[in-house]
Amino acid sequence: MARCFTFLLSLTLIVSPLFAGEKEGTLDIYFIDVEGGAATLIVTPTGESILIDSGYPDLNGRDRDRILDTLKNQAKLDHLDHAVVSHWHLDHYGNHASLSALIPIHNFWDRGIPDALQEDKNFDTRIADYRAASQNESKALTAGDTFELDSNGTPLKVTIVAASREVIENTGEANPFASEHEPKPVDNSDNASSLGILLEFGDFRFLCCGDLTWNTEAKLMTPNNPIGKIDLFMVTHHGLPNSNNPVFVKAIDPVVAVMCNGPKKGGHPDTIATLGSCKSLKHLYQLHRNVTLGSEEQTPAAYIANSEPTENCEGIGVKATVAANGTSYEVQIGQAGTRNKYESRSSKH
Ligand SMILES: [Zn+2]
Repeated sequence: MARCFTFLLSLTLIVSPLFAGEKEGTLDIYFIDVEGGAATLIVTPTGESILIDSGYPDLNGRDRDRILDTLKNQAKLDHLDHAVVSHWHLDHYGNHASLSALIPIHNFWDRGIPDALQEDKNFDTRIADYRAASQNESKALTAGDTFELDSNGTPLKVTIVAASREVIENTGEANPFASEHEPKPVDNSDNASSLGILLEFGDFRFLCCGDLTWNTEAKLMTPNNPIGKIDLFMVTHHGLPNSNNPVFVKAIDPVVAVMCNGPKKGGHPDTIATLGSCKSLKHLYQLHRNVTLGSEEQTPAAYIANSEPTENCEGIGVKATVAANGTSYEVQIGQAGTRNKYESRSSKH
């Protein structure tokens, strides 16, 4: 028996390093730098992959290649299980079709395909490419949809909180900031139709709402807060001020925020001030230094992934790694950056 045990032990020691370099049960979130667009790759503990948005098209494949590099060289994957489009703007679905020509994509998800898009005169052509890539089998998500994903133990759940201007039922505790809502003119663009995606992994809670704009944010979060508080928040709409309504941001009260801004897009001082007024916020990470603002108007340099203008940008991303039990997470800039650790707040509504 002793010999048998020793054999098993040594086998474990030999085998485990092969797996140790891989996932170790973590949930990984890669905020890929696409210069002011959005592309967020989530890899679950079992290796299931979800790409939310795909950056800008063309540009010699700049954003497509950054996504592929993250997928293949960082996440060590050769396909995508799910490709999601938050809404129909080019900085969000620019590479779904071109990616599908290079890697298998098993499922396409979106908010439903509109017949036309007033703000994009080339929508017909672009959507034809998307339809072809998805073989006309993309699935439309609606507010209230939920998905339980395989996770090796810690429960992993995705909830669609907003889609096509509809929002989940306004249950939950009263939003103490609700009276601060000041409506803006109606936003007829597709931003207002963005998907809002809540991901929960045990106690850890991540929220990503595409480019959802001001009035839809208020519709979702007043008078009650049906989402509760959030650990990690992908700042909405690249940090632009027609999103990030304080009644929304202050109510979710994130501990860590990651802003997918560009050197000259997003990262607005109003949004940064709103984030700064959140009681629990420890750190704001920016994918870019906003080159039009002074250093005192943005997050400290240690939390900025890229400082150069787009022409010289290396496209460094931000990564969050959530522990296998969901109780804590680490955030780092680039593959070798300092890992800052945070505890999940487990404050359910
Ligand atoms: Zn956008």
